[in-house]
Amino acid sequence: MGVSSVYHDYSSFHNGTSFSDAFDNFNKLSDLNVIEKLWGSYYYYMANDLFATGLLFFLTHEIFYFGRSIPWMIIDRLPFFRKWKIQQGKLPSEKEQWECLKSVLTSHFLVEAFPIWFFHPLCQKIGISFHVPFPKIKDMLIQWAVFFVLEDAWHYWLHRGLHYGVFYKYIHKQHHRYAAPFGLTAEYAHPIEVALLGMGTVGIPIVWCLFTRNLHLFTVSVWIVLRLFQAVDAHSGYEFPWSLHHFVPFWAGADHHDEHHHYFIGSYASSFRWWDHVLGTEAGPKGKTEREAAKQSNSEKLQKKLL
Ligand SMILES: [Zn+2]
Ligand SMILES: [Zn+2]
Repeated sequence: MGVSSVYHDYSSFHNGTSFSDAFDNFNKLSDLNVIEKLWGSYYYYMANDLFATGLLFFLTHEIFYFGRSIPWMIIDRLPFFRKWKIQQGKLPSEKEQWECLKSVLTSHFLVEAFPIWFFHPLCQKIGISFHVPFPKIKDMLIQWAVFFVLEDAWHYWLHRGLHYGVFYKYIHKQHHRYAAPFGLTAEYAHPIEVALLGMGTVGIPIVWCLFTRNLHLFTVSVWIVLRLFQAVDAHSGYEFPWSLHHFVPFWAGADHHDEHHHYFIGSYASSFRWWDHVLGTEAGPKGKTEREAAKQSNSEKLQKKLL
């Protein structure tokens, strides 16, 4: 059995083979918080860091993607929530949901299950740490913010490019099968699209670490969960009075992405509104009205200046 390098000093550890033995050992280390203790125990118990990282990422993806989609499936079945549905009357049928689920699962098991095993060696090569203790929360907050901003830019340009002629026809069309999206459709896409857009989620932290040499695997895991939540919620099809963009005006949310599916062009960004706003690519009549209003007020300002 191998020994994990998740912690630097096992001299105080007693022998044991179960997960609870591993946790007992970590629990005695006073400088670790409970999440660090669980993380350490997991790697120690698995005793194979490559396998532990692969399994952790695969399970994190499955648990949080479906965990976040299931509440939306329930909401779709409850008449109480109908008044907040963006495209009124466009509820997904059982058949549509079932087909989407099968396709997403197939892609997870056939496409993603393979490259995930290369992630741990890659992390080691470029210096993404998986040791306990974790970095300071301040470092993690800064990195999550940077990843959100950069992923959004990557997503905007890649997605806009995917709407171009042949790219749309052979790759992106699959994702547009559902003009009224629902939570599960977030990852319903051609494998090439999954790879290209996935580069924004996984590639950006890798590039960040190449430049800064400062990144932890826990930070990456939480970032992936946050990005999954963002993607599933953007496809939910619901706009509530308490939706995040009412409090954070530049947050995109379902209000923004549902329009993209409804009108097929415009509103290309993932998390934020600024790219579409500045470049005038907001979708649908709402986007058009906003652009015209902005134009109008600009020309009025200009006239005032000239007078
Ligand atoms: Zn699109
Ligand atoms: Zn979409």
